[in-house]
Amino acid sequence: MQFPTSSRIITQQFGENPAIYAQFGFPGHNGIDFAGVLGDPIYAADAGMLHVHPLDPQGYGLYCTITHKENLTSYYCHLQQLVVKDKATLKAGDLIGFMGNSGFSTGPHLHLGLRKLPYTKNDPYKGYIDPLPYLQETESNASLPSSLPQTSFSSLACPLPAGGGQSSTISSRTVDKKGTAVIKATLLNIRSAPSIQAPVIGILYESAVLGYEKMVMVQSGGGWEDVWLCFGEVLYVAAVFQGVAYVQLDNGTI
Ligand SMILES: [Zn+2]
Repeated sequence: MQFPTSSRIITQQFGENPAIYAQFGFPGHNGIDFAGVLGDPIYAADAGMLHVHPLDPQGYGLYCTITHKENLTSYYCHLQQLVVKDKATLKAGDLIGFMGNSGFSTGPHLHLGLRKLPYTKNDPYKGYIDPLPYLQETESNASLPSSLPQTSFSSLACPLPAGGGQSSTISSRTVDKKGTAVIKATLLNIRSAPSIQAPVIGILYESAVLGYEKMVMVQSGGGWEDVWLCFGEVLYVAAVFQGVAYVQLDNGTI
């Protein structure tokens, strides 16, 4: 298994804080917590089938599980957003969502759980085991996500003019329109503002499903009006950039 996030800062180990976890029926913390910031990408620790669960406001918040071989199930909890549909088949390292602060959580973090079924009646952790010994560094992990190249989106189909080009936004308008979009590009950068000059803070891969809350139309010059999808308050992806569509909207307009 690989690390599900770029953070290696573990703020709560397996088995810690028995007094807190008694209310959940465990002798201690039933997973490990990774510190991070809102919107950090969360990746599948290993291949398997993803399951989206009902919101658990008093516990795991927005969460999903992935069932793996050898009766192992991994848990990804307190998410801000999920970008993969229920019953999706995933490879290790596929993006599944973004770090949040939902449920029983005092700050943005990922609770990673690992459960091995079946468990014996007298197992106080009900099958939950410490995920840490299962996690291994991989080459793909090592380059994600803080060192992501700025070029991964612009090199797809929208090279900037030689000399850097003009990046100033002429005008933009925001449309309150919710919907879902399927990513059509091999990968699509998530940025902190509706501009290819804005920092890359994550990546969506082909076929990922994105729930968006707003559309932002940006006049980028040269007669193009770009369309950016906004989600999670301050996360943006380019739906249409300089006339090229990178997503398919559920309502078929792009
Ligand atoms: Zn936790």
